[in-house]
Amino acid sequence: MRFRKDAPPRWLRRWCPDEHVQSVAEITPERLQARGISALLLDLDNTITPWRSRQVPPEVAAWVRRMQEAGIQLCFVSNTRNIGRLQWLSEQLGVPYARGPMKPRRAMLRRALKMLGVEAQHAAIVGDQLFTDVWGGNRLGIYTIWVRPMHPREFIGTKVSRQVEKWLLRRLERYQVDENAS
Ligand SMILES: [Mg+2]
Repeated sequence: MRFRKDAPPRWLRRWCPDEHVQSVAEITPERLQARGISALLLDLDNTITPWRSRQVPPEVAAWVRRMQEAGIQLCFVSNTRNIGRLQWLSEQLGVPYARGPMKPRRAMLRRALKMLGVEAQHAAIVGDQLFTDVWGGNRLGIYTIWVRPMHPREFIGTKVSRQVEKWLLRRLERYQVDENAS
């Protein structure tokens, strides 16, 4: 599902992703390249692994490899406090990570772009939360892809923001791009 990002009222626009996908597998190198995107900033929890888990589902690991083979640069941008786990997953998948203040602050995302040597207009962020991943990406002016959370288990605070996300999604749905029209 794609959105007309400039259409929602200003208060809502900051949380409007460019795309909403059911799983990362929907994101293909071809579609990214067609938009001039050569780098992905990746959220970790509930995007690449279940919350607090070191287990990367095989289809997600395959997706990461496919991106790497296609020359799409990747970097983790996670709000996790567990650096050991982040480091371990970074090594397992061959994906570097940036550190910094938590999303939606911009510093960590900027650092990731700098590490990859990529301009904001050629990058996208992929994550499962409107209030961290999408908002942070929008603040930086990068393409934002909101992915459905991999697993219902998550931080108690996140469960609360999910209710708000649901409410926002209902408001955003009217700004969907009609894919059949173009
Ligand atoms: Mg997440």
